[in-house]
Order: sequence, then C-alpha cells, then structure tokens
Amino acid sequence: MSTTAPYYHSTGKEEEVFEHACRNKIPILLKGPTGTGKSRFVEYMAYKLNKKLLTISCHEETSSTDLVGRFILKGAETTWLDGPLTTAVKEGFIIYLDEIAEARPDVIVAIHSLTDHRRELFVDKLGKTFKAHEDFMLVASFNPGYQRGFKELKPSTRQRFVALTFNYPEADHETEILVNETKLEGSVAKKLVAIGGKIRNLTELGLTETVSTRLLVDAGKLIHSGLPKRLSVRVAVNEPLTDDPEVLAALNDLSDLLI
Ligand code: ADP
Repeated sequence: MSTTAPYYHSTGKEEEVFEHACRNKIPILLKGPTGTGKSRFVEYMAYKLNKKLLTISCHEETSSTDLVGRFILKGAETTWLDGPLTTAVKEGFIIYLDEIAEARPDVIVAIHSLTDHRRELFVDKLGKTFKAHEDFMLVASFNPGYQRGFKELKPSTRQRFVALTFNYPEADHETEILVNETKLEGSVAKKLVAIGGKIRNLTELGLTETVSTRLLVDAGKLIHSGLPKRLSVRVAVNEPLTDDPEVLAALNDLSDLLI
C-alpha cells in the first residue's frame, strides 16, 4: 500500500456513498466513460479506508478461471493457485473489476453469490465454498457508452450494485486536477480544459469516445516537460481520438486556435 494518499478530487458525494456501501457490504458499480477518475477514486478510497486493493482490468478474454484460480503443474504435482478474487474474498481486500462488461459471461456468474446476502464464493474446481471476509468489498466499473457498440450489463446484474455515475468534471475542478497532476501553470491548464470542453461539445464529429481528463493530463505532462503546446495537444489529445484525416484536421485547427 502506498504511504501517501493518491490524489483524488471529489466531485460530489461519492466518498460518502462508498463508505456507506462498504459498511453495509453492498457492492459498488462505477459508471462512466474512460478517463473520468473511476480507478483513481477506488485507489483513493482503498487508501482512506486502509484496505488492500486488487485491480483486474477486464477484457474479452478475462474468464472466471483468471479471477477464481487454477491448478498449475509444479514438477510432477498439480497445486491449486488462488486467483485474485479468491484472495480478496479470503483476505478481506477490495477487488476492483475494471470494465466488467468486457469480461466473459462466466465472470458475472462467478461473482453472483458474492453480490447478495450470501457473500460467498463457490470454487467449482475445488468443490468448495468460501465465505467472504468481513472486510471484503467488490467494486466494478462499466462504460455505458449507450448506442456506441460497447457491451451492456444486464439489469439483473446491475441491480446487485449501488451505482455511481462519473463524468467529465466541471471546468474549475478539471483545471485543479490538471494543475495537481501535471504541475502546469493554471493559465495553461485552463486553456487545455477549454479545448476539452469545446471538443466534448462537437457531437457532429461522431467521435466514439470524446476527450477524457486523462488525455488532458497527458497533454499537460508533455507541455510541462517542454514539448511545444500545440504539438502536445495534437499528439496527446487529437491523435488518440480519431484516425479520420478530416476529423483530425478539424480538431487540430480548433486546438491550435485555443492554445
Ligand atoms: P478511469 O478509471 O475512469 O478510466 P482514471 O481514474 O484512470 O480513469 O483517471 C485517468 C486520469 O485522470 C488519472 O490518472 C488522473 O490523472 C486524472 N483524473 C481524472 N479524474 C480525476 C479526479 N477526480 N481526481 C484526480 N485525478 C483525476
């Protein structure tokens, strides 16, 4: 566990909600686009509540075996190796399943009995059921993405969680985050935030995902380390957003004007 608190700028009542959900042993679902501070929030809360955190970034290959554990060959013998979920259940850690909807469906099945009053994990390969430790906590994140082809999460799964929405912070908050994360001058951070705000409003560009705080932080870091401002925004913000030459040209024109 780190010795200094991770920097997290609260945007609402999320800390209180997390603490109460934790106290009442209710899992938490963090909803929102990528780069809006969900992972940082979980790191911060783990620090605040003095709990160990295990994070799993889920992708389409993530299976329940990856989480629960597997038999491995050691010389001539097979031994059982707990996966991160089993470890967290036994030791009372927070497990954070980042982008849970991306994982294989058997992951949802595996966490089922952990997300209700039973709070237990059935490990079929061992034929054993483990009761969750008092301090065990399940947190998951999910990018709703609406009609943009992201994977959905079934209502029956969602209703097992307390849910919090994350979004792009207000301009003042976002400027503060940039200054803290990049040590950039306030006036330059403000300009980056203005670029972010403008691009977020350009729905006609048809971007799959728009500018996240993460992209602005990256641009801020490049500027702070001495890369020219316009180039920094082009490579850290505009290029990651699109491969379409026309859209890219439009974004570059816009950002050049604003910084
Ligand atoms: P997500 O998990 O939602 O994809 P992250 O937590 O990884 O996003 O956030 C991406 C980056 O954006 C962080 O590394 C941090 O620099 C910055 N960030 C976004 N929101 C916040 C916030 N509220 N407080 C502090 N940093 C933030």
